[in-house]
Amino acid sequence: MDSNIIAVDDSVKLSAKWKLELRFTGKRSKDKPYPGTLTVWESGKKLNGDGDLKAYWCMKAGINYKEYAGYGCGKVFSGDCAEGGIAVCPHCGMRWDTEQLTDSRYFVLPTSKWAFVLEREYWKVSADADIYLKYHKMDPRPVAFTSNPDTIREPRKKVSFAIYPLANIVKDSAHGSVLNEIRGFLEA
Ligand SMILES: [Zn+2]
Repeated sequence: MDSNIIAVDDSVKLSAKWKLELRFTGKRSKDKPYPGTLTVWESGKKLNGDGDLKAYWCMKAGINYKEYAGYGCGKVFSGDCAEGGIAVCPHCGMRWDTEQLTDSRYFVLPTSKWAFVLEREYWKVSADADIYLKYHKMDPRPVAFTSNPDTIREPRKKVSFAIYPLANIVKDSAHGSVLNEIRGFLEA
């Protein structure tokens, strides 16, 4: 059997190996930069398939804006490669103290640039990822101030999210570009 031939069957669920997750709190804007945090997970890897395992970027923590040559290859690898506080990148062989490794990346970008970042990471994990958007919103109701501290309500956090599953990314970009489809998803 030729292993290069992959049968494509619409009835088969395309389940992605990775999950790219973008979390943000502000309002999304096409042109105005807003902060967000990007994390990458290995789907269904934890506890016998019952959860996601955090993955790493082979990149020194704190250097979030650049793919920094000399401090890792910038590729994504599984949390499986880390043991006892030491991780070895399967792509370039670099040894890391996991404390120094990047497991989340913070950017302040407008939607068009966020689309670039997500597209780059999507190809980095071999186009095998679902994209998750998580939006944390504070409850806009005013907090009631009274003399009794017990009655002061914490503003409640609301989380809404959207998922762009791999199967849809593949289908939607069949006649166009992945970048355009991701941008469309972010702008929706
Ligand atoms: Zn590496």
